[in-house]
Amino acid sequence: MKRIYLDHAATTPIDKRVLRAMMPYFSDKYGNPMSLHSFGREALRGIEVSREKIAKFFNCEKQEIYFTSGATESNNWAIKGVVKASQEKNPHIITSSIEHHCILEACKDVSAEITYIKPDKNGIVSFKDVKKAIKKNTVLISIMYVNNEIGTVQPIKEISKIKGKALFHTDATQAVNYFDCDVKNLGVDLLSMSGHKIYGPKGVGLLYIKNNSRITSIQQGGSQEGDLRAGTHNVPGIVGLGKAIELIKKNNKNILNLRNYLISKILKEIKGSKINGSLEYRSPNNANFTFDNVEGESLLFLLDEEGIAVSTGSACSSGSLKPSHVLTAIGLSHKEAHGSLRITIGKETTKKEIDVAISKIKNSVEKLRKLSGDVLKEYEQLQ
Ligand code: PMP
Repeated sequence: MKRIYLDHAATTPIDKRVLRAMMPYFSDKYGNPMSLHSFGREALRGIEVSREKIAKFFNCEKQEIYFTSGATESNNWAIKGVVKASQEKNPHIITSSIEHHCILEACKDVSAEITYIKPDKNGIVSFKDVKKAIKKNTVLISIMYVNNEIGTVQPIKEISKIKGKALFHTDATQAVNYFDCDVKNLGVDLLSMSGHKIYGPKGVGLLYIKNNSRITSIQQGGSQEGDLRAGTHNVPGIVGLGKAIELIKKNNKNILNLRNYLISKILKEIKGSKINGSLEYRSPNNANFTFDNVEGESLLFLLDEEGIAVSTGSACSSGSLKPSHVLTAIGLSHKEAHGSLRITIGKETTKKEIDVAISKIKNSVEKLRKLSGDVLKEYEQLQ
């Protein structure tokens, strides 16, 4: 059976050109970049060439790019490092209730007062609400660029204009592939991302830190990354991250057309289906549906048996019985949130794959509805 992968927000396949660029750094150029000999120097060169490409992409200085193990670390660093560096007695952070768990959990872990801004029913955080929440002791505003579950795009440029003296961080993990990430245009002080969402390797990412931002390191050890992020560099990963960023083409027309085709066909062909989140301000690769009277996890497993890979909520939270915090934040009931399915397409997705997936989703939804209808009938007869 040919499997169909429709879960690109969870991770993407590595681009062959990225893999080729990384290969020499596993076994030939294997030096520790902090070593002073030629082995070390050639590894360091790999890192610095990568940093240059990345700085060009984000339109920043090379020294403003700090390599990490991925967006989870970068997001933890942004929250904890800013609070740690702050001179406020009672620092205040503004974030949203639809952030990735790594932001929400990091916020719980710092001694700071946190304001969680709720999005509207379309999944958009209002910059006016952010403005209203700013206080004298606000040290950080952290609002994600693109939501990982419903793909909604947040008004980053507008927030940067009203941020006052607070530092402004954005988790751009799901945005880098599709949206403008020029940090000067965006007006952000800090930005996080992960390599594996952009056809690059897993276990590597970065934090952009604008020069002179008040932030400290959160892990101690060696003097890597300007003394701010200790630990031996993931050299092949960093080289791969640079290559993946270099390969990004912000021409989203094909992906957008394919995604729009998927949405309109599902809404037309499957009764009792609806799309979650704004259609207008949305990542071109994301579709998130709710199917009435269907349990999302059951649908996921049925589709998996048919070789179709999709997700319910975010991959990181699936497996738990809690409904998605994003879907409940935009007003879905627990039942509706449990009936949701996320489909995220990628650059290698074809129309044929979409057609096969739609027909299998339709069959599976009907099957599950019939099953739950039968169970209900049986129950009623027993009463
Ligand atoms: N932020 C967002 C918006 C994400 O989608 C993810 C990955 N699901 C992360 C942070 C964490 O990325 P990683 O697991 O690569 O550290």
